Amino acid sequence: MGGFDEKAFDDSIDEIEETGEARPADKDDSSLVTHHSSLGSAVCLVSGGMDSCVTAAIARAENEELAFLHASYGQRTEARELRAFEELADFYGVSRRLVVPLEHLARVGGSSLTDSSIPVSDADLSSRGIPTSYVPFRNAHLLAAATSWAEVIGAARIYIGAVAEDSSGYPDCRPEFYEAFQRVIEVGTRPETKIEIRTPVIHMSKAEIVRRGVELGAPLRLTWSCYQSEEKACGRCDSCALRLRAFRAAGVEDPVPYA
Ligand SMILES: [Zn+2]
Repeated sequence: MGGFDEKAFDDSIDEIEETGEARPADKDDSSLVTHHSSLGSAVCLVSGGMDSCVTAAIARAENEELAFLHASYGQRTEARELRAFEELADFYGVSRRLVVPLEHLARVGGSSLTDSSIPVSDADLSSRGIPTSYVPFRNAHLLAAATSWAEVIGAARIYIGAVAEDSSGYPDCRPEFYEAFQRVIEVGTRPETKIEIRTPVIHMSKAEIVRRGVELGAPLRLTWSCYQSEEKACGRCDSCALRLRAFRAAGVEDPVPYA
């Protein structure tokens, strides 16, 4: 490997993890170490859910230093998600943490997550429509906050655990959205700022995310996915239904308590 080549680095990481045995390229261990030390830091958006936990586990492997960002936006399970965020940060030894209030999203409303007059509907996984739990354009607010912070602390990457396939059909989880936002970062930050958005689980199914998390030793027991309640997961909302289906498909027992 010549100069810094992130693509080559990513591939070598994947291959090492998948084969788990020495290959000829592994002789070049020193270059791997060099790459690691040149990787710098990343801002990782951590909601406290399963996708963000596995995304954090992947970011942990790809970066020297992590900073965790969490947003509270008046969602029903805000306190429980914040606890999951703190516990995940503790697990990964991340001391650089930022919790940003995006309460205006609750004031804007329009989602069953933030507006108590809109009931959290039971899951309909066969539906092609956008579920009531969609918080209008939420991920743009999250990325905007992450971009500001990344530019200030000099982070080279932003990780977000968006999932396009096998998910609820949120428009701000599509790959095209992240490609477009990448362009927004390029034109909206200092000329010398280089920040790359990474969406490592965007093309995975939820079952693949569970399996990847188990492979990486991600603490899925610390995550919270339910949109409805904070004591025990309801098992009926969109998020619970997707999560339960994913664990079943992966053949792994969900460590979180259900009502
Ligand atoms: Zn639930």
